[in-house]
Amino acid sequence: MSNRVIVVGAGPTGLMLASELALAGVPCTVLEKRAEAPNITRAFGVASRTLELLDARGMADEIIAKGNIVTNAGINVGVGIDLSLIPSRFAYMLIAPQSLTETTLEARCHELGVEIVRGTAVTAVEQDAEGVSLTVSDANGTHVERAAYVVGCDGAHSAIRKALDMPFVGKENKTPITLADVRLRDVPDDFVSAAVTGAGLRLVIPFGDGYHRLIIWDRENDTKPIDAPLDVEELRAASIRISGSDLGMHDPRWMSRFLSEQRQAAHYRVGRVLLAGDAAHTHSPIGAQGMNTGIGDAMNLGWKLASVMHGTAPGWLLDTYESERHPVGSMVLRVTDALTRAVLIKSDLVLKAVRGLMRIAFDVELIRKHPRALISGVGIHYAPRGDKPNKLAGRRAPDRDLGGERLYELLRDGTFVLVDGTPDGAAARAAAGWGDRVELRRTDGGAVMLVRPDAYVAWASDTAPSAAEVQHVLADWCGPRVDEDVVVAQR
Ligand SMILES: Cc1cc2nc3c(=O)[nH]c(=O)nc-3n(C[C@H](O)[C@H](O)[C@H](O)COP(=O)(O)OP(=O)(O)OC[C@H]3O[C@@H](n4cnc5c(N)ncnc54)[C@H](O)[C@@H]3O)c2cc1C
Repeated sequence: MSNRVIVVGAGPTGLMLASELALAGVPCTVLEKRAEAPNITRAFGVASRTLELLDARGMADEIIAKGNIVTNAGINVGVGIDLSLIPSRFAYMLIAPQSLTETTLEARCHELGVEIVRGTAVTAVEQDAEGVSLTVSDANGTHVERAAYVVGCDGAHSAIRKALDMPFVGKENKTPITLADVRLRDVPDDFVSAAVTGAGLRLVIPFGDGYHRLIIWDRENDTKPIDAPLDVEELRAASIRISGSDLGMHDPRWMSRFLSEQRQAAHYRVGRVLLAGDAAHTHSPIGAQGMNTGIGDAMNLGWKLASVMHGTAPGWLLDTYESERHPVGSMVLRVTDALTRAVLIKSDLVLKAVRGLMRIAFDVELIRKHPRALISGVGIHYAPRGDKPNKLAGRRAPDRDLGGERLYELLRDGTFVLVDGTPDGAAARAAAGWGDRVELRRTDGGAVMLVRPDAYVAWASDTAPSAAEVQHVLADWCGPRVDEDVVVAQR
């Protein structure tokens, strides 16, 4: 039986997942059909929660240093979202080209020994009780690769999803948008700016390298075929119709018409084959959620699949990938669909009404909190496990100083972290048999918390738990302790 995992697709999801598997010591190969990395950038917004996840692996600082921090997203209807109020160490949206995130993840993969094979397309998938066989084609012809598990991170048109005959439920959005990276003579104020008027929508996002990403929905041209020629004059005219100014745009380095889809795979797992990222869910780029959700999928799946490969995973664990991430994907589809509909409203009357309602709604802090939590990803949480769970269970672990090191720094080895606030360190002592999978840290305050490798709280107790309770929780989440026979004999 093969002892490796094959990840199909070297986009952000596949690279993140491969690095997670390699960090946990699982042999991993990435097969990528493109011979070269793409030279255009799709995603530009890296959300707070994604930065937290990257921080939990020591990669956030590098990306932040090269990106552009945006603390305020403004819309010309008098509505602003103050991102600096996001309850995170990274209280902003980072504008960074997808290529930068991918380069950082790929370097990490190389560091950890992941094999990345480019110019290799997967064309067929077959699985049996022991593993998965992939038919792959490359410059030398066709051959078969074998793995214990395969994860399709191969984008919206996923060959793996198609090979599974997995329904990709949803629709194609009817309204094309135009995208362009241009230089601007009249740069709007230093934040993501959005103009929504009866003539359409124009978003301007600064990359920080002198170029701005324009996303334009031009009502006058929205029946043009997707492959109709596009030039900067069309963008200028649209921009003037929408906002009264073309912002002095010039020197486009890339332009495209784009028709997005809103679809989600019915399931994320069939036996030994799993789906993640755009292969599992795809939606409008309005809301900047796709790459962020894919990286979230990869963080959720990596440690679970690794513990299956090491034989320590409890039987229920791998299925929680779908039960936790499918609802997140559905929520992202709903939010991006609502945002897309809101900005692409065709009736002037309805548009006016929506703008009025948005202004009123955004005056209320309680309502403003929700878009912040959604866009930043900090609101994502999972169903807690067990009866009478603590209020923190399933929530994102709050970062905190634990005696000179932050929790998210302690997570960098990809293990669980047990934070023991009992005065005598009894919980940490009880956990000693799981030292290979659980980092133990003493603190004060009385509470005890078990943090998953993906920075969500597995279990917590506000008061000192018994040793038996701690050991029960650890066995439930992390599998048997190293000296399991001894424990069984003592019981
Ligand atoms: C205009 C635009 C703007 C966007 N902006 C944002 C944003 O600001 N923030 C955000 O979070 N998201 C954004 N997105 C979405 C984001 O780009 C995607 O969600 C993200 O790229 C998905 O990553 P992925 O790794 O799942 O898939 P992909 O990036 O699509 O990678 C899939 C990889 O699989 C490879 N592959 C495909 N088939 C095979 C095969 N048969 N064999 C081997 N390899 C294969 C492909 O070559 C590709 O490299 C935007 C998208 C668009 C179009």
